[in-house]
Amino acid sequence: MTIKNDTERAHLIEGGKRLAAILRELSAAVAPGVTSEELDDLAERLIRDGGDEPCFLGYTPDGGMRPYPASLCVSINDEVVHGIPNDAVKTLKEGDIVGLDLGLSHEGIIVDSAITVPVGKIDDVSNRLLRATEEALAAGIKAATPGNHVEDISYAIQQVIERAGFTVVKELGGHGVGEHVHEEPFVPNFGHPGRGELLEEGMVLALEPIASAGKAAVRLAPDGYTFRTKDGSRSAHFEHTILLEKTGARIITA
Ligand code: MG
Ligand code: MG
Repeated sequence: MTIKNDTERAHLIEGGKRLAAILRELSAAVAPGVTSEELDDLAERLIRDGGDEPCFLGYTPDGGMRPYPASLCVSINDEVVHGIPNDAVKTLKEGDIVGLDLGLSHEGIIVDSAITVPVGKIDDVSNRLLRATEEALAAGIKAATPGNHVEDISYAIQQVIERAGFTVVKELGGHGVGEHVHEEPFVPNFGHPGRGELLEEGMVLALEPIASAGKAAVRLAPDGYTFRTKDGSRSAHFEHTILLEKTGARIITA
């Protein structure tokens, strides 16, 4: 969406603040022995307690074969994104990395954010993968200024991930957000500077670098949602909703 007035802007900012607080609470709940379903239940309760709506629950993406059955996506280790927490319930183990991806609708405005969290102590490669993916998100946000183009963001993200020795998952990426869960433009995590749609003040985008520690190829599980790396390597995902303001991006879900 493109923010047109102060009311929309205030709702967007408040929604982002709420989502960020919920993701912090979910991160704090991550521990060995916790199940994906417990995290999903907590996410849904925290959203509804605030009077908001979980917007992944019941959402069918383009080409989806059924509505998504949960509020939260929980993607463990080689699961890249869209792991279903209440379908095949999984228990977190020491040394895992777990991606938590959540969207909520506040006063009709949708915000979307994700983090990847270590479960206890993790190995060095996983640590570097998490750091690089988070740094790639920061670089993408920095490139998201009015007057730049979509692929300036893509290029910035790709550089950070590849310089760290990791690979970019190409099938998935960022998107417009606000009115719907997924809107135009698609924001790939790889590209060429100066290409793609012009970025304009007021645009709301969800930027989400997704990196693999091994090869970038992914496959979709028979559940229709869970993406995994084909070679079994670990994957990380960080996402913020941002608002393009005159002088640069404002992070809505910080
Ligand atoms: Mg998301
Ligand atoms: Mg998203």
